[in-house]
Amino acid sequence: MSKVFKWLAVIVIAVMILVIGILVWKGIYARPELPRITQSNMDFGIVEDKEELTDKYEIYSSKLKSEEFIDLIVNQKIVDSIEEFKKQNYSDKNIASADIGIFKNVVDTYKINDDVVSVRVTIMSKDIGKSEYTKSIYGYNFTLQGKHILFLDDLFKPEYKEKIKDIYSDTYLFKNNSIEFYNDGKVKECKYNLLKEYVRTKFLNAKNLGVTDEEYEEIEAKIVDPTKKMVAITFDDGPHKTNTNEILKILSNHKARATFFMLGQNVVNNKDVVKQVYDNGNEIGIHSWDHPQLTNISTESVIKQIKDTSDAIYDITGYRPSVVRPPYGAFNSNVKSALSDYDLILWTIDSLDWKSRDENKIVPLVLDSVKDGDIILLHDIHITTTPAVERIVTSLKNDGYQLVTVSELLEAKGYDRDKIQVFYSGRQ
Ligand code: ZN
Repeated sequence: MSKVFKWLAVIVIAVMILVIGILVWKGIYARPELPRITQSNMDFGIVEDKEELTDKYEIYSSKLKSEEFIDLIVNQKIVDSIEEFKKQNYSDKNIASADIGIFKNVVDTYKINDDVVSVRVTIMSKDIGKSEYTKSIYGYNFTLQGKHILFLDDLFKPEYKEKIKDIYSDTYLFKNNSIEFYNDGKVKECKYNLLKEYVRTKFLNAKNLGVTDEEYEEIEAKIVDPTKKMVAITFDDGPHKTNTNEILKILSNHKARATFFMLGQNVVNNKDVVKQVYDNGNEIGIHSWDHPQLTNISTESVIKQIKDTSDAIYDITGYRPSVVRPPYGAFNSNVKSALSDYDLILWTIDSLDWKSRDENKIVPLVLDSVKDGDIILLHDIHITTTPAVERIVTSLKNDGYQLVTVSELLEAKGYDRDKIQVFYSGRQ
């Protein structure tokens, strides 16, 4: 009897040792290793570290200590993430395991130049009972002078998105020579260089773009400075197989841009010209297919006139115009609602070039009354207009005007184009 009891005691002790052994082993070895995320490029701000260790979770967090408006945004994200993590791993959570939840984040900052600062928050976390870590990355970009978040849309013209649609994500970070896009913890890089044709701000310089100073000069000429005066020159009724090219030469010689409101019937007959207008950085608008007065035709016909022309332009350039100039400037509420997806662009100064056919009348008509924000109406189908364009462009440039497209004008003047549909100038 006592022999059996002895054996029983040995077995019980053996089992106890085994159980304790397993628990110790799990505690020591089964805990996943803390993720390694190293901090780098501490160009800006001071990061504060903090540890919080409980029996259910361990938190190793870093926070930013810099300009207040940056702290508010970045640190709030970290605080919210920690709160969310704690909810998943609260201390009463009844999991019979030596396993614990782990949270770790780092903050990297990059000073792009005197004004632009970028902050990246990387979070690795693992909940109790899980063996995998999940990684999340958030990018924030700020302008110190403006004291606000800086977006990609602030740096590039809208077409950039199409160019990088395969890597684009809403979360990204500006770095010295590239943009990092974050998607599900994965990183994709895009050199600024790839987007240089869309640059619209001097935040980026030749060094960031990886181009020569001469190349940057070209780019700089396309950047619109909203604080300086500007005018939008527009050409109707083209494109014309020779005149339009002559005007394109004048514009590019003066590093100027304009908007060409084209007729669909001329687009299909002058495809090379359309392509050149677009490639030179000008804007293409729609005038209609064959110049009817839109107030005299049915709503269906209005829509068809514009849509067919848009399709023809799109087939050649891959670009869909957003601006329409109704023939004769004629529109009413029907036309407006039929074309609600477009801005209707009228004009401030009518050069009457179609009537006078005389550069000595066209030039003073424009230059005597021109003001910042004006939209000037000319026609690229008349050969007499071309020498007038040379004189007008030269004079305006010498006067310090930026010669911009209609969309650039409206944007630089800060219009909400969803709220206003009809524009006569950039001063309304
Ligand atoms: Zn016309």
